[in-house]
Amino acid sequence: MNIAIAGSGAMGCRFGSMLDESGNSVLLVDNWKEHIETINNRGLTIINESGTHNQKITACIPEEAGDKVDLLIVFTKAMHTESMVNRCQKLIGENTRVVTLQNGLGNIETLEKYVPRNRIIAGVTTFGTELLGPGEIQALGSGRVQIMQADREETKEIQEVAYIMNEAGMNVEISANVSVSIWNKVAFNCVLNTLCTLMRDTVSAVGSYSEINDVINEIIDEIILVAGEEEIYLNKDSIMNMITAVFDLKMSGNHLPSMHQDMVNRRKTEIDFLNGAIVKKADLYQISVPVNRFIVHLIKMMEEIRGN
Ligand code: NAD
Repeated sequence: MNIAIAGSGAMGCRFGSMLDESGNSVLLVDNWKEHIETINNRGLTIINESGTHNQKITACIPEEAGDKVDLLIVFTKAMHTESMVNRCQKLIGENTRVVTLQNGLGNIETLEKYVPRNRIIAGVTTFGTELLGPGEIQALGSGRVQIMQADREETKEIQEVAYIMNEAGMNVEISANVSVSIWNKVAFNCVLNTLCTLMRDTVSAVGSYSEINDVINEIIDEIILVAGEEEIYLNKDSIMNMITAVFDLKMSGNHLPSMHQDMVNRRKTEIDFLNGAIVKKADLYQISVPVNRFIVHLIKMMEEIRGN
């Protein structure tokens, strides 16, 4: 299959390299020139538990990308989806499937401006990856992927996408529950990404606070109310379990969520697509979400003070 990755940071490089390795033709598209040059000149360096590998793979900026592809996987940070897909329009033909496994709410709506809903595939992934520097990623363990077409149909096209992703070792499941999984992950990130960024500390450090369950409750209760307005019914216990499970050092190690990394590297965070999206929806449905609103202010205050 001809595949392009629109936004080839940590996750884009990881998914692109896996799909390339399993026999597809993959193009890594990104904005960061030094990263692209390093990949083209020296290959993509991938560090995982079995050592350091170098993979030959082609990368370019969107304007240099060639023909239409069968599959476009969008892996920018959520706030850059619009500009990246806009610049990748010549890669999108009438049969191109567009996949988003990005975090946050609103990715499908952004993609819908460029591709009809029946060609958008949305989902979540538990794969974790870090971008160590230009042309170098660290692939953290393995993971799973859950996908569904945005129009909720299960066509032979999504089955084909799942097949080639499974051939690449991505443990893909086509699931009618993807919307709930996306919201569960949003709730998880609304708690952990923000608290670790505000505390400037690890997941397990945040989890060690004696009253942490009270804090999580406040954030999650508001999210569950907003989700209910969209007929997405979340299970509070399962979200609490997902969050508290990673407080264990064995699960999260010294993990610092990507929002923290974006903040210290003076980049914009995905706050508008996490707690910010909850606040926006709450305003629409006239629901009061003071805790999430305050968290958005704190993160934006940090961004503004640091000049991110
Ligand atoms: P990333 O931060 O690694 O890359 C995003 C973009 O930032 C890329 O275009 C990259 O080239 C650019 N970038 C990064 N460092 C740069 C630098 N120093 N200078 C210039 N440009 C730089 O993003 P990611 O972690 O791959 O996340 C993509 C999406 O996937 C997000 O929505 C994220 O929330 C989601 N996600 C990430 C992970 C993960 O483990 N990383 C897991 C699941 C979902």
